[in-house]
Amino acid sequence: MQLENKIAELTGARYACAVNSCTAALHLALEAIGVGPGDKVLIPTWTFTATAEVVRYLGADPILLDVDRGTFSLTPEIIEQALLEHSNVKATIVVHFGGQAAPILEGASGGIGEICKRHGTWLIEDAAHALPAYENGIPVGSMGDVACFSFYANKTMTTGEGGMLVTDNPDIAKRVRIMRLHGIDRDIWARYSSPGVKWEYDVIAPGFKYNMPDINAAIGLAQIERLETMRSERQRCAEYYLQHLSELECLDLPTIRVKPEEHAWHLFPIVLKESAPVNRNKLIELLAADNIGTSIHYKPLHRMTYYSERYALNPGEFPNAEALWKGCLSLPIYSLLSNTEMEYIVTRLRFHLGY
Ligand SMILES: *Cc1c(COP(=O)(O)O)cnc(C)c1O
Repeated sequence: MQLENKIAELTGARYACAVNSCTAALHLALEAIGVGPGDKVLIPTWTFTATAEVVRYLGADPILLDVDRGTFSLTPEIIEQALLEHSNVKATIVVHFGGQAAPILEGASGGIGEICKRHGTWLIEDAAHALPAYENGIPVGSMGDVACFSFYANKTMTTGEGGMLVTDNPDIAKRVRIMRLHGIDRDIWARYSSPGVKWEYDVIAPGFKYNMPDINAAIGLAQIERLETMRSERQRCAEYYLQHLSELECLDLPTIRVKPEEHAWHLFPIVLKESAPVNRNKLIELLAADNIGTSIHYKPLHRMTYYSERYALNPGEFPNAEALWKGCLSLPIYSLLSNTEMEYIVTRLRFHLGY
C-alpha cells in the first residue's frame, strides 16, 4: 500500500496496483481491457518476449512492428500505418526503450497517444525500463491508459521480483485488484458479509496469484528513496559515453529526444556500423576478455522461433530492427560505475575499433 502510494505520486497516476512482476502487470492490463481471441495487439519487435507473450496468454495475436533506427522505439508514423493496415487492433503496447520515453505526447504527425485515441485503441506502456522517465516534464505512467513497471533485479529499481501497474481508469484499477489475487472481490465481501463477519469472501472470476509480497514492497520502499540519485548517476555515465564516443565514426550512438534529466538511462546501446573493423559478436568477445561485460537488448522477437514460425515472419519486413540487431550491444551503465572504469571501457573500445 505504501509503495503503491509512492509510485502513484511519482508517476502522477490515480491508481497504482502492486504485483509480482511487470509481466503480471501487462497480463492484467490486457485482461482488464478485455483482450481475447480474435483481437490484435500492436507491439515493437524490439523488446523482451514478456511484452508479446502476455498477448498470447489471452489467445490474442501480437502484431510485431519495426522500430525507429535512432531510438529503437515505435513512432506515431509506424503505429498509424499499422492501424490503417489491420482491423481488430484492441491495444498498442509501447516500450519506453532503454529508459527514454517513446513519443506519446509529441511527434511529427501527432503523438502516439493522440493516434491511439483517434483509432479507438487502448494504449499500454511497457515501462519496465522507465522509472523515472518523462516526456516534456510529464512522467511516464500518466500518458497512456495503463503503464506497467518492473522491479526485477536488473531494472532501475528492484524489489527482488516485482512490478506495478498504474492507471487513471477506475474500472481498470478495480478489475486488476480483483484479478491479481484469485478473483476475490473485496467490495462484495464488505457489502454482503454480515456485520462482524470477517472471514467471508466472494470469487467472481478465475483470477491469478500475482500479488506483491510485503517483504518485496519493503525493499521497494528503501529503493525508491534512492531512485533519483541512482538515475542521475546513470546520467553521468551516459554523458561520459556520449562525450567520449561521439567521434568514433564506425558506431552510432542512441538518439536522445528528451532532456537528459528526463531519461531513466536504464541501458546504453551502441550500434556498430558495417564499416567497423570488427563485427558485433567479435567485439563482445574482445571486451569480455578485457573483463568488460556487455549485453544485447534485444535479439528482436521476429527472429525468435516461436513468433517467426507462428506468424510466418520474414526479417525483410523489419529493416530497421535488422540493421540494429546486426550491430547493437549495450555498454555497462549503473550508478556505481566510476569515471575511471568508464575511461578503461572507452580506451579498450577505441583500441578494438582501431582508434
Ligand atoms: C524486464 C522486462 C519485462 C518483464 O519484467 P518482469 O518484472 O521481469 O516481469 C517486460 N518488458 C520489458 C521491456 C522488460 O525489459
